[in-house]
Amino acid sequence: MRSAIVCKFGGSSVADASQIEKIRKIVSDDPDRRVVVVSAPGRVHDGEEKVTDHLLNIASRGEHFLEQRKDIQAAESREAVLGKFRTIVRDLGIDGTAHLAALEKDLDSQLEGDERIAFLASRGEHYNAKIIADYFEKSGMKAQARLPEEIGFLVGGGFVDAKVLEEAYERIAALDLSESIAVVPGFYGVTRDGEIAVFSRGGSDLTGGEMAYAIDADTYENWTDVSGVLESDPGIIPEARAIPRLTFKEIRLLSSKGFNVFHLDAMLNCRKRKIPIQIRNTNRPSDPGTRILNERVPEEGVVGIARLDNVAYIYLEKDSLSEELGFTAGLLGLFRDMGINTYHYPTDKDDIAVLVDQDDLKGSINDLRRSIENQLCPDFMDVVYNLTILTPVGLGLKRNSYPIVDALNVLSEHHIPIEMIDQSPSQICFHIGVSQTVADDALGLLYRKLIAGA
Ligand code: ASP
Repeated sequence: MRSAIVCKFGGSSVADASQIEKIRKIVSDDPDRRVVVVSAPGRVHDGEEKVTDHLLNIASRGEHFLEQRKDIQAAESREAVLGKFRTIVRDLGIDGTAHLAALEKDLDSQLEGDERIAFLASRGEHYNAKIIADYFEKSGMKAQARLPEEIGFLVGGGFVDAKVLEEAYERIAALDLSESIAVVPGFYGVTRDGEIAVFSRGGSDLTGGEMAYAIDADTYENWTDVSGVLESDPGIIPEARAIPRLTFKEIRLLSSKGFNVFHLDAMLNCRKRKIPIQIRNTNRPSDPGTRILNERVPEEGVVGIARLDNVAYIYLEKDSLSEELGFTAGLLGLFRDMGINTYHYPTDKDDIAVLVDQDDLKGSINDLRRSIENQLCPDFMDVVYNLTILTPVGLGLKRNSYPIVDALNVLSEHHIPIEMIDQSPSQICFHIGVSQTVADDALGLLYRKLIAGA
């Protein structure tokens, strides 16, 4: 089989005609770029709403923005979506009459319930793919919109949280990519009954990952508006650079702790087939970006530092709780029963702590305390709020744990109190809890000590 690259372009990369011209150039620069997955148009400037949000607002008859306390009626969203596509078509210089008429008709859909939400939410990707394929053709490239409903991109499991069905892969693998580039709308698939179902938000990344897996691509390129996975939050660390290579394991640890790079589930199948994922910047296409691989040589001890804010620490003391059979299971079960996810639970002979997202405690902390007191009878219980967990990550930490010592030293030299420390069982990251009020300073110190100065 010839080599093929699947490239996915996120909302900001396809937000207007000038961005679409950038992606045309990127795609035409490498003949292996045979599958182009596109999102719906994103924001051109701050304050603007994404097309998908407007579509959800139309679908929910104004509820979507109302829930976010935004005063945007469904009729305004309808105008915004139509206006956006009209401008794109005009600026690209293509004839979009048929697409615009079909879009208008779709926006008046009479569907109800989740079917309605899914159908309308998918329209941004659907029409963007058609328009972009037309533009590629007009520019002299051979391209064709390949819609999920035509290529057998089959999904099941609910209209608004769809999952790809196994048989989809075989159908997609049969796609002939030799004649023209396939422009595929992201974010949705089709059920066995021919209905549209969408993935969770950000789901075009999933479409890209699934396409790459199905055709056994050489690389899955994920084009966005940052030059890769950054070493840390650039809002706090302006000098943070893109990490050149990361393993799937490392990026999961970084992502789960506040790195919002892309939809993590998009990696699962790529990892199975050892398909590298390259995160690249549409606005700076010569930047190499970040390559996510199954393995890499662990040269660096720490490659990135993740940050998780708004953590609460629930601390219990009870003599010999570690010898009480099922104590931890009972405690975690109480959290489960109240729908509260637990992140870490450092434990010892007479005490245990459970770390949770403090937003999850809103409205339930009183009940939780009461159940813990009644069922587990601790000698003492305390809840500490407003913690930040800083997590240095790097494969090299497994053979060299000195960065842990360096981290503690630098924080203590600068009089930053450490509320907790915990080494991950994988030994490739560790967690330091500090008060949120000193978190920016702590992150800066750790970055300079463990990464910049390393
Ligand atoms: N347009 C969808 C969203 O905004 C999917 C995506 O862009 O990945 O969530």
